[in-house]
Amino acid sequence: MRIDCHMHTPLCGHAIGHPIEYALAARDQGIDLITITCHIPMEWEDFGQAGIRMAPEDLKQYLEMVAEVAEVASDFGVEVLCGIEAEVFPDETHMESMDVVLAAYDFDFVLGSLHAQCPSYLGWLKRNKIKDDAMKIDSYFRHLKDGAESGRYDSLSHPDVIRTYGVVSHFDPREHETVIREFLQSVVDADICMEVNTSGLTKGDFEVHPDPLILDWASEMGVNLTMGSDAHKPSSVGQHFESVLGLLRARGFRDLHYFRGRQRHRIDLPKPQDAESGACF
Ligand SMILES: [Zn+2]
Ligand SMILES: [Zn+2]
Repeated sequence: MRIDCHMHTPLCGHAIGHPIEYALAARDQGIDLITITCHIPMEWEDFGQAGIRMAPEDLKQYLEMVAEVAEVASDFGVEVLCGIEAEVFPDETHMESMDVVLAAYDFDFVLGSLHAQCPSYLGWLKRNKIKDDAMKIDSYFRHLKDGAESGRYDSLSHPDVIRTYGVVSHFDPREHETVIREFLQSVVDADICMEVNTSGLTKGDFEVHPDPLILDWASEMGVNLTMGSDAHKPSSVGQHFESVLGLLRARGFRDLHYFRGRQRHRIDLPKPQDAESGACF
C-alpha cells in the first residue's frame, strides 16, 4: 500500500488543480490513499490570509468538495481522506479561533505546522528579542515540542522548515541535537507522528524535511512517521517518494502511518516500485 498524506487545493489561493486531478495523479503512481490537507483558516492576518489560506466560510465547501472527490476516486481505487494543515504557534491566544474550527469539523487528519517564515512567527521572534540563528532554531523546536504535547495534532509537518525561506542563514542539526531530540521524544510520548515531507527536495537546500540526520535520531528513538508530498499541483503528488522511501529504509524505518477519523493506521514501508509498475518519478 502507498500513501500521500499532505496536499492542497486551490481554495488556499496558491495551489492549482482540482482535487480530482490530485487523486488521478495518485492513481497513476500506484498510490492507494491520499489525504487532502488544505491550510486552516486563521483569524489573525499575520498568519497570511488571501493567497495563503481559505476563509472560514469556505470550510463547508472544502469538506463537500473532498467528499465528492472521495466518492469519484473510490471508483478508480484511490481512497481520499479529508485532513487540514493547522498551525502551531507559541501564543495560545491566537489558537482559540483555530481550536473552534478543529472542534467543529470531522477531519480525518490534523497536521501541525509551525510556519516560521510567516509574519506571525517572525514578529513573535522579534518581540521576544530572539535574534541569532541558534536561538531561533532552538525556540522553533521547543514550540514544535509544545505543539506535540498540546494534543491538537496527529503529525507535526515539515519539521525543520525553519531552515528554508531565509529565516536563518545556517542550519546544522548537530548543533541543536538536544532540543531536537526533546522534540522527537515528545512525539513518541504523545503517541503521534512526525511527517516526512518530500517538498523539501524541491526548495532551499534540496533536502527532505526533516534533514536525514534528524531521521536517524527519529529512527533510533522510535518516532512514527506520516509521509506527504505537500503537493500544490497535481504533478507534485508523490514527488520524490522513491528516493525518500529508500532513504527511510536505509535508516531502519519499516512502517508508515496514516489517519482516518483521527485514528492512526500502520502500513508496511512501501518497497521500491519495479520498472514494470509504470511509475515514473
Ligand atoms: Zn500551501
Ligand atoms: Zn506547511
